[in-house]
Amino acid sequence: MARWSNWSGRQRSKPVAVQFVRSESDAAAIVRTANSAGRTVRVAGAGHSHSPLVVTDGVIIDTSGLAGVISTDAQQRRAWMWAGTRIHALGRALHDAGLGLVNQGDIDRQAIGGAIATGTHGTGASLRNLSAAVVGARIVLASGDVIECDRNRYPELLEVARLNLGSIGIVTRLQLELRDAYRLREQAWQAAFEDIAPQLESLARATRHFEFFWYPQTDMAHAKAIDETNAEPVYPLAAEGERCAYSYEVLPNDRPHLHTEMEYSVPAAHGLSCLDAIRTLIRRDFPDVRWPVEYRTLAADDVWLSTAYQRDTVTISVHQDIAEDETPYFRACEEIFLNYDGRPHWGKVNYLERETLAKIHPRWQDWWQARERIDPRGTFLNDYLRRIRPR
Ligand SMILES: Cc1cc2nc3c(=O)[nH]c(=O)nc-3n(C[C@H](O)[C@H](O)[C@H](O)COP(=O)(O)OP(=O)(O)OC[C@H]3O[C@@H](n4cnc5c(N)ncnc54)[C@H](O)[C@@H]3O)c2cc1C
Repeated sequence: MARWSNWSGRQRSKPVAVQFVRSESDAAAIVRTANSAGRTVRVAGAGHSHSPLVVTDGVIIDTSGLAGVISTDAQQRRAWMWAGTRIHALGRALHDAGLGLVNQGDIDRQAIGGAIATGTHGTGASLRNLSAAVVGARIVLASGDVIECDRNRYPELLEVARLNLGSIGIVTRLQLELRDAYRLREQAWQAAFEDIAPQLESLARATRHFEFFWYPQTDMAHAKAIDETNAEPVYPLAAEGERCAYSYEVLPNDRPHLHTEMEYSVPAAHGLSCLDAIRTLIRRDFPDVRWPVEYRTLAADDVWLSTAYQRDTVTISVHQDIAEDETPYFRACEEIFLNYDGRPHWGKVNYLERETLAKIHPRWQDWWQARERIDPRGTFLNDYLRRIRPR
């Protein structure tokens, strides 16, 4: 029996096998064999999700061998890439073609296929999540057939592929919309929360990437603003908060401390009052929480299961040490997030059942109906997805 665990060690699995793929034909052969043995298949990226998305007693596919940029089109500002490529490996390769990701998350250790499967995002009030940049995909389906989709060919499949929860097949290649390579300069500072709160909206509007962490024990905000610059990059790279270099060098950070995390997206207009409610909760009921609360912004998109579907968004994340039981804290936060019309990040902890998810995602039925057409036998489902699947 094989073993698999996620980044934090909180999600563990004993699949029948973890199978490494290096090509689409490998992937197709594995899926055909699993299917004929009546086994289910889950695809793993870099295992950085806190939610039980990869966990299965079936077969886990390790996609790290599907790596690299396949082709770039500097004029159209697009590129095809293998879905197992780690985001940190994309930066330099795209840069060499004069291109860059429009935005990226707080770390760059994820596989691009894994990041897209859960709607991973960075911060920036005018910037959408990574899923919204997907314009094409190649997928090995449950039948073992390989299909390529874009806005003209199999557009419904593309919609589901853009945020797919690993539930439609093995995504082998992705085509992303990009932009010209660009430089960024970041600035970090600390301020009392009460001082930064009144400026939040203007800071988020005036800055390409604005975010802050609120520390419950000190009531201080550690803020960061990142903007485009024409200044020459400075190497060796300075510490986080002082870098001036290309986007792929400035946006990602090191996050070595193992933790678990819940994140909800709330309508941008309610971001500050939702954060205030979380602050009150922590101070009143969870005064021992030391991990910070993160506040970021995200532009509206049209990705069916995106947490920013058709609404400008503020994302608020709460963290807890993996040695602690996060459940009472996270459940209390979740109640507040839901009062603010929140939608949970697919790669992070939530406790929602299918009925609630159906209410908070306007395209829930559409997404599932399309998924069922692609994989009616549920080859690419696991216990978690079967639990939230519409009856
Ligand atoms: C330290 C840390 C920092 C983080 N920072 C951010 C952040 O800034 N912003 C943010 O939004 N999120 C963040 N996350 C969450 C993370 O980006 C997501 O959970 C992301 O999905 C993880 O990518 P992964 O490659 O590790 O995928 P995994 O966790 O391995 O898998 C995630 C999903 O993708 C599917 N999948 C992976 N590859 C494929 C493929 N080729 N074909 C089909 N399905 C596939 C899996 O089946 C699963 O459903 C962070 C997580 C950690 C631990």
